[in-house]
Order: sequence, then structure tokens, then C-alpha cells
Amino acid sequence: MNAVSGSANDTPTGANAHAHFDHDVTIVGAGPVGLALAGWLARRSATQGLSIALIDAREPEDSAGDPRAIAVSQGSRTLLEALAWPHDATPIERIHVSQRGHFGRTLIDRHDYDLPALGYVARYGAIVQALAQAVRGTQVHWLHHTQAHDPVVENDGVTLPVVSAGVERHLRTRILVNAEGGLYRTPPQRDAQAETEEADEANTKAAPPAAETKRTRDYGQTALVGVVTLAAPQPHVAWERFTNEGPIALLPMGGVRGADYALVWCCSPAQAERRAQLSDADFLAELSVAFGARMGRFTQIHGRAAFPLGLNALDALVSGHGRIAAVGNAAQTLHPVAGQGLNLGLRDAHALADSLAQHGATPRALAEFAGRRAFDRRMTIGATDTLARLFTVDFGPLAALRGLALTALEFAPPVKTALARQMMFGQRS
Ligand SMILES: Cc1cc2nc3c(=O)[nH]c(=O)nc-3n(C[C@H](O)[C@H](O)[C@H](O)COP(=O)(O)OP(=O)(O)OC[C@H]3O[C@@H](n4cnc5c(N)ncnc54)[C@H](O)[C@@H]3O)c2cc1C
Repeated sequence: MNAVSGSANDTPTGANAHAHFDHDVTIVGAGPVGLALAGWLARRSATQGLSIALIDAREPEDSAGDPRAIAVSQGSRTLLEALAWPHDATPIERIHVSQRGHFGRTLIDRHDYDLPALGYVARYGAIVQALAQAVRGTQVHWLHHTQAHDPVVENDGVTLPVVSAGVERHLRTRILVNAEGGLYRTPPQRDAQAETEEADEANTKAAPPAAETKRTRDYGQTALVGVVTLAAPQPHVAWERFTNEGPIALLPMGGVRGADYALVWCCSPAQAERRAQLSDADFLAELSVAFGARMGRFTQIHGRAAFPLGLNALDALVSGHGRIAAVGNAAQTLHPVAGQGLNLGLRDAHALADSLAQHGATPRALAEFAGRRAFDRRMTIGATDTLARLFTVDFGPLAALRGLALTALEFAPPVKTALARQMMFGQRS
């Protein structure tokens, strides 16, 4: 969604203005972050009497086949459980972090933090279904199968073109929330001829509205995901294993004897493409070599899929003269190495619901929201980016350094605790 500035002359102001707005707050995107925001806002905003719309091009049921399993942190569980909680979430009691072929490992155990679990693993679709159920019973006006297009910002609100069943209409809202999510897309290869033609064309046109500035990084990696079954599982233990190709995560998903694990295997796009063509047996044989034999043989895999990995983080959460806020993946797309994308998005959404409930659908609420989220975003995006780069480079001396870092964590409990707490709870204010 790219906002453009519109004419201020045709917009109502003052006491009459309310009649001209379809909604106070319009949320585009009913992924987990947009849904959580709608649910929290509906509960919190009764005193403000806010009218809330939620728009999505799809329905929650369409997420059932999404191949992602998500590690939901203990902090997110605390935020979510009053609203909704997926029925199939599996607790993580211990996390084992190590390097393939190099020394150094660290263990994080729930008992060290006196917690029921360090986090939980749930299917993306189950999280969406649970949240959708919670939103259905509220006053939120939910538009399914409706595609939102670029909004036009005016001085007292935003006009949003939407298309449903081939019919276009314009919704007016005081505050627009971009929860459109999305995944990292590899930038298209550009050929010199096309660039020259575009430059010539640009020179003959008026300058377009300033684009939002963002921080981007292509990690040159793809995540292969699927659900694997292990011969000698350790139920409720999650594994993060750094290899010379990238991290491999195995997240417990229950199943018979706790033998099902969600796999996230990060490797080069070329290797990912090649592995996607392998039979299940050949794929598992390569995985066994890459991961090692710590949990016995990999006996089965299903639901294989691939996701390109990169960082895409907006510099500012609020735009459009203070009337448009971004949350979740629309604000930042992270490498999954630390399992932080959704967790950070949920903290964004919770803070935004809080600010809107307190200050109403006003630019003041959005300014407060942006201020509250700045530190946590900086910490989480920075830590994830550093981990992704440090642990995805195949360079001898770096492997030794990583081994030292993992060992040092074992002998420096305060540092390990600080890191674990950031990953489990983030920073909220
Ligand atoms: C392999 C992998 C593993 C991951 N593991 C973890 C993990 O362990 N822990 C974690 O916290 N995070 C993890 N993540 C990140 C997590 O998946 C995302 O952060 C999360 O899904 C973002 O949710 P969202 O609601 O912001 O966006 P999305 O889930 O992308 O939802 C966006 C919604 O907006 C709708 N939409 C988009 N555009 C429009 C439009 N123009 N009009 C109408 N509707 C629209 C879409 O239909 C969709 O329903 C992982 C990601 C990947 C790729």
C-alpha cells in the first residue's frame, strides 16, 4: 500500500465530520497481526465507541494450508491468551543451540526462568483460526474477499479504494492500519537497458510522491519448511543448529511420542531449488547429513514449501500525515532465525490497540504508538539481523568466533538471561 496525498478542499472538518466517515479505524489485512489488533481494539475501545473495519482479500479458512509453523514466545502467549489461543500449541521446554562440525553450544531451559514454557509451536493456520473466532463475536465490521488499493490521505482522514466482487467503492476512515503482511521478495534482476529506459522516462515525468524509506537486506537464503518425524525424538525440546549453509531449526509439534517437528532449513536459493526437486527419501538423507544424528533418523516429511529470506523494515511506523500506521510484516519482514517476526508484530498490534483506545482515532494516538515501539523494534530487528548475518556466513574464523560466543553464553548467565528475555518477551512500554 503506497499512500498518496489528496486534496484537502473536499474533506469535511469540525463537528459534522463524523457523518462523513465510514469507520474510525480501518485495518487492512486479517493475518494474525491484523486479527489480534482488531480483537484487542474491539475489547478496549468500548469507552471510545470506535467503529472498526477489518478488510482482507481472503477468508481465515484460506490459511488452513499455510505450511508455516510459528514459535510463539511466552510473552506473546501472555498477550494472546485473554483473546484466543490455538488448540494445537506445543510447549517448548528447552532450546538446544549448537554448530554443526564446530565446538560451542548453549542450552536454554524453562526451569532457569521459572516459566511453564519458553514458548509454544503452533501452525500459522491454527493461530489465524483461533483469532478469527475471537473477532467474529465482536462489533468489528469484517469485509472478506475485499482487496484494498493505495489510499489517498487528506487532512482529516484517509480514503481507501476497495474492490469486492468486481465492484469498486471508496471507504473513508480516520485512521488506516496497514497489516497487509507479506513475505520477503527477492529483488528482480535488472538489466542495464531497462534501467536506462526507466531513467529516461523518469526524467520526462513529474516527481512521484516521496516513497516510504526502509531498510532492506537480501540474505541470499531460502527457508525450506515442512513437518518431519523423528525416530528418537526428545519431546518439547527445540533445536537450532548452525551449519555452514545456514541455520536449521527443529520445533516440537507433538504427534505420536512427540515425534513431529517443524523444520526450517535455511540454505542458498540454488540448493533450495535443487532440494525441492528431491524425493522425500533423498531430501531426508541430505537433512540427516546436515543436521546430524542427535535425534536419530528422520523417517518422514510432509508439507514441504520454500520461502525467500530477507530484511524489509520501514524506518517509520507512521505515515500519511500521522493517519496511517503499519504493523506486523507490513512494518518489518525478518529472517526466521530467532522466530521473532510474528512475536514482534503482536507487540506492535497490542501497543497500537492500547494507544487508540486511550487517545481515540487520532494522529496523537499514532504518534504515541510510534514512540512506544521504537526501542523494541530497534532491538529485535537489530538482534535478528546480526544473528542472521553472523550465523549464515561460511567463513572459518567466524565459526570459531560463533563457538566462543555460544560457549561464553553458558558461562555468563546474566548475558544469556538478557538475550533469552529479549527473545521471549521483547520490550513493552
Ligand atoms: C519460514 C518462516 C518461519 C517463520 N517462523 C516464525 C516464528 O517461528 N516465530 C515468529 O514470530 N514468526 C515467524 N515467522 C514470521 C511470521 O510468519 C510473520 O511475521 C507473520 O505471519 C506476519 O503476520 P501478519 O499478520 O503481519 O501478515 P500476514 O500473515 O502476511 O497476513 C497478511 C494478511 O493481509 C491480507 N492482505 C494483504 N494485502 C491485502 C490487500 N491489499 N487487501 C486486502 N487484504 C490484503 C492477506 O490476505 C493476509 O491475510 C516465520 C516466517 C517464515 C517465512
